[in-house]
Amino acid sequence: MKPPVEQALKEIERVVGAEHLLTDTATLSRYSVNMLATADILPAAVVRPASTAELQQVLKIANTCKTPVWTLSGGQNRGYGMACAATPGTLIIDLKRMNRILEVNVELAYALVEPGVTFAQLYRYLRDNDIPLWMDVPSGSPEGSCLGNITERGAGYTPLGEKFLFSCGMEVVLADGQVLRTGTGTLPNSQTWQVFKWGYGPSLDGLFTQSNFGIVTKAGFWLMPRPPAYEPLAVTMDDPEAVYKAVEILRPLKLNMVIPNGACVTHVRKALGLTACWGEGKNILPRVGRRFDYPAETLKALKERYALGEWNFAGALYGLPETVRAYRGIVENAFRSALPGCRFLSAEEQAASPYWRAREKAMRGEPLWEFDMSDWEGKAGALWISPVAPVTNEAVEQQIRIAEETYAKYGFHYAAELILGTGRDLHHIIWLLFDRSDAEERRRAELCEREMYDRYCEVGYLPYRTGLSTGDYLMRKLGPFRDICHDLKQLFDPNNILSPGKSGIDLANRS
Ligand code: ADP
Repeated sequence: MKPPVEQALKEIERVVGAEHLLTDTATLSRYSVNMLATADILPAAVVRPASTAELQQVLKIANTCKTPVWTLSGGQNRGYGMACAATPGTLIIDLKRMNRILEVNVELAYALVEPGVTFAQLYRYLRDNDIPLWMDVPSGSPEGSCLGNITERGAGYTPLGEKFLFSCGMEVVLADGQVLRTGTGTLPNSQTWQVFKWGYGPSLDGLFTQSNFGIVTKAGFWLMPRPPAYEPLAVTMDDPEAVYKAVEILRPLKLNMVIPNGACVTHVRKALGLTACWGEGKNILPRVGRRFDYPAETLKALKERYALGEWNFAGALYGLPETVRAYRGIVENAFRSALPGCRFLSAEEQAASPYWRAREKAMRGEPLWEFDMSDWEGKAGALWISPVAPVTNEAVEQQIRIAEETYAKYGFHYAAELILGTGRDLHHIIWLLFDRSDAEERRRAELCEREMYDRYCEVGYLPYRTGLSTGDYLMRKLGPFRDICHDLKQLFDPNNILSPGKSGIDLANRS
């Protein structure tokens, strides 16, 4: 450990107490693990502040001693880096102890949360207090952070799936320990902090997402009234080309808000990968390697067993019983006339499959309790490559072709899901699964990931998020934007202490 780091740790220990500054080998090794193609990355220490005031003091010390820190809230961040910093020797600031649900406003349908509040915790709170509000959840982990998902601009499966869009008002601690409130929170006695997003003057919230300009310590998380009627839709399609038609069918249904949620069209390999994480699917599917290279016969049998097609659409209807009934008819007509071979699953068929059961839960905001990838950690590699596409069949066809060609070149199997946002955009979340214990395969995964970025960017598709090892690679494709991000970094954090390397922003590496 370098002397300034040692000095900083001594002072930080006085702020948080010895039990919340961890340097033992087992802890450091836990925070070094990720599932990416990069190696594990060992931190210098882990600090667990209990409050904004403690965090302010920690940052003041780190800033004075020029000690680099890395922020995490839930530390789950599956597919993008987990609880691991981008560079070794960092002081990890784990915000899990700051886990208060500060307010749930039932009338106005929002919560104000600290970083350590998990999806499971907020869900339990709403359920146990019989609050008639639903929340949005991602597929990653129930132990992920609501606020962390806002700062990463994560996508979910309810009508509130675009997490950052449906967040409102932040409290942020800057590198020198100053506290900033965004939106209307700039007015000390604001009555509208969690209800009106824009405030007055420049809107700053976006600066604190996917960046390293500050640490967010509170955020407004919008909720939705529990609807009188809810109907999950499950449609299987056997034709490999059906996905292109499905996109065309879904665009008007999404644009007109007939289907209001983060609806998704999922390839069978990804659906089976998810099945392997849930309930009885865990015991049945082959787990070794997890490269999805099932023989054709096995794939056919698994499709039948779990009521899956080559492509699988999951969306939901919300509202009054009569509007849900009417909308169901509209959706069914649209699918049946364009894709006569598709199959709408009954409620019983959905309930019999772990995949469809999990989808049904996610679309009404129940965290996926059984989504357990714990035995993947350190053994199997899993990373997500996530280009965004416009909702057109040509764009989706082009994106899938690029993925299939690149994966075939590197010996991997395409497995993906398309999450439709507003009806204009979709997140194409492509899994890359590989054996992390095999150095050659890991190298191939790394080359494959980078080539995917190259090819998508070449034809104008930017990923919505990257893993911690590819931030710089992607940022370098973005010309003047990269320079401006570094100018902002210089302004907010001239000592470059906050999460250096996050999204490729690092003053030590700006040339
Ligand atoms: P998850 O919610 O999946 O558990 P993490 O807590 O690991 O996610 O956070 C994912 C990433 O988001 C981190 O690597 C960090 O860059 C960023 N992040 C998390 N919490 C904050 C925060 N409170 N302020 C700023 N950035 C954050």
